Amino acid sequence: MKWIEEELSSLADLSLLRTLRESAPVPNRPGYTMRNGQMLLNLASNDYLGLAQHPVIIESMREKLLIDGAGSGASRLVTGNGEQYARLEEALAAWQNSEASLVFANGYMANSSVISALVGRGDVVFSDQLNHASIVDGVVLSRAEHARYRHNDTEHLKVLLRKHRNKRRKLIVTDAVFSMDGDHAHLRELVSLKNEFGAMLMVDEAHSGGMFGSCGEGLCHELGLQNEVDVHMGTFSKAFGVYGAYVCGSRNLIRWLINKARALIYSTALPPSLIAGISTALTFVQTEHWRRERLRSSSWLFRSSLSEAGFHIADGDTPIIPLIVGDNAAALRFSALLEQEGIAAVAIRPPSVPSGTARIRFSLSAAHTEQELVDATRCIRRIGYQLGVLRA
Ligand code: PMP
Repeated sequence: MKWIEEELSSLADLSLLRTLRESAPVPNRPGYTMRNGQMLLNLASNDYLGLAQHPVIIESMREKLLIDGAGSGASRLVTGNGEQYARLEEALAAWQNSEASLVFANGYMANSSVISALVGRGDVVFSDQLNHASIVDGVVLSRAEHARYRHNDTEHLKVLLRKHRNKRRKLIVTDAVFSMDGDHAHLRELVSLKNEFGAMLMVDEAHSGGMFGSCGEGLCHELGLQNEVDVHMGTFSKAFGVYGAYVCGSRNLIRWLINKARALIYSTALPPSLIAGISTALTFVQTEHWRRERLRSSSWLFRSSLSEAGFHIADGDTPIIPLIVGDNAAALRFSALLEQEGIAAVAIRPPSVPSGTARIRFSLSAAHTEQELVDATRCIRRIGYQLGVLRA
């Protein structure tokens, strides 16, 4: 096992070593996190709508926990399929205006098993180069050919679609909002290419669910494309503030996944208390529009304050705001200085992002106030000068 030590020290030399650090929520302060006894403004979580500490969600989970116990005890196909699943899946399908839906344990398992249930040897998956790792792993698991197209480059995708025209099944898959860049996929173009080439289209709304659409359905709804997407996936771990994931689509798609999605078949069902929490969170996501509105205005404010300070911040309307630093060590230093100033924001390094594009990924929450964000951008600016990312 000596090789592990050698590999770890070369990761450390490249400023690519990852370690686990302890964080704890701060009671009644959803926009904050505790680290080493210090309360930090949390600009690193995906609790976009500020629901993770919501007392009504917590209470619904507690009630169910006391009635149904700690765990579900078995996979859904055995005895883990509690009555609350069917109600939640009906509510999800109604929300997404789809025929049916299926809950998964988490987004990673949903993506990896749905893709491998839809395609196999002899098929091809067209995947954006910046898609989430769980999509990449799904393609690898499926054994289908992996045709990666340059980020949001629909011309490149078209070339690849032509090249693989005669493959048995073709699946185009994309994040709706890219997790490390916060930009949108070009969904309209993807829909028209899918139709032109007879491909299936799968969209991952992990970072757009809750934020877009009149009731938080996601970007596909916002653009009126919900009926054009064959496989609509989203998570409960981000805007919902809980844990888990869903897939929506046709009744037959869901019947197929129940038979073929290995993460559903061979893994224990989520605990009943979690399903209760997700169901309660769904009602908040659907009805508390002020959370989306506040998040949109915060995102705009934060982006424009950083741009005015002199940082290169791409235009956008999502709460994921990357500040590209480039060098891995400089990104780590930036993050450490932010922490000293009371801000939690992580340095994202390869392989999560392409080499040479290490960054601080800021992610905002509806729990943050305008003043907190303005103060944070002042502090980020100061550190930008200190590290030479900004020059006078
Ligand atoms: N898809 C995307 C785009 C993601 O960013 C993530 C999580 N970072 C996932 C899927 C996986 O979701 P989960 O955390 O529920 O496993």
